[in-house]
Amino acid sequence: MSAASPGIESATSVSIGDGAEESVVGGKRVLLAKPRGYCAGVDRAVITVEKALEIHGPPVYVRKEIVHNRHVVDTLRERGVIFVDETSEVPEGGLVVFSAHGVSPAVRAEAEDRNLRTIDATCPLVTKVHKEVNRFARDDYDIMLIGHAGHEEVEGTSGEAPEHVQLVDTEEDVDKVAIRDPSKVVWLSQTTLSVDETMERVDQLRERFPEISDPPSDDICYATSNRQVAVKAMAAECDLVLVVGSANSSNSQRLVEVALQAGARDSHLVDFAHEVDESWLSGVETVGVTSGASVPDVLVMELLEWLADRGWIDVQEVTTANEKISFALPRELRSGSNAGHSRVR
Ligand code: SF4
Repeated sequence: MSAASPGIESATSVSIGDGAEESVVGGKRVLLAKPRGYCAGVDRAVITVEKALEIHGPPVYVRKEIVHNRHVVDTLRERGVIFVDETSEVPEGGLVVFSAHGVSPAVRAEAEDRNLRTIDATCPLVTKVHKEVNRFARDDYDIMLIGHAGHEEVEGTSGEAPEHVQLVDTEEDVDKVAIRDPSKVVWLSQTTLSVDETMERVDQLRERFPEISDPPSDDICYATSNRQVAVKAMAAECDLVLVVGSANSSNSQRLVEVALQAGARDSHLVDFAHEVDESWLSGVETVGVTSGASVPDVLVMELLEWLADRGWIDVQEVTTANEKISFALPRELRSGSNAGHSRVR
């Protein structure tokens, strides 16, 4: 098989299960995106909960889903984690972990008022955006936060300076926002957006506010943009792109959109292999496979096995970047045994 698409650094063939023994059926092949799956922030958040369980024993409370993935949440629940929507549901003095998406100062204050013991698993790249909000609010800027209404990350980030932040989700929102001083307006963004869509929103904002300032550095994180680049590299060759990820995972949903925009004929989001509708495979030769930043690779391997059972045994990995990023554990958990990966993989 030839390399999947121009611009791809390297492509290797890998065999799944017993597939190496079989012959390729027709033109059936799988293009497997790399990078895909777990990012450094998700890995850190899951290890944080695992370590909290190890050190303190169950129950460990987690405010909201630690990361947006059903498999991860269900596995941790089985081990003794209790997921709550608000800290008010945690018994006085209980141990609560804040999720990778971050929390507002009001949530921290409420936890303190209730004497909760807290561990903060907010991804450092989300914390970076919180700091930017604080900095621009201190300088009395109007902050246009590009993001999805109702997403936990956006709630936490806006909550740093609600009187300065206005959410820009849709094109219509651009017309609705109001500013006080055209020379003191800045745009920031949620970390898990579509890069292209965000730039469209920025262009619209700039039309209204020509002096709008850019963020000091990219807010869309490396993991989100790397996964989008990998999907774009293979999408035009794919009849179907399957994205493993949960419906509430922003970056996973964006991968479906990016695949379609980049030329895939069809694309769907599935949590598990058994959710693939066999009718999607009708007339399909090339299937692209990727996964969101909160997805353990075991779920992708299960999907590859499911596809292999149906004749897609030729798997080519399409590599557009090699990620080597990792984050230190939260301060509350740092010890000599910080190394390694989470066990929910
Ligand atoms: S997707 Fe990006 S911001 Fe979110 S947890 Fe992963 S690295 Fe952090």
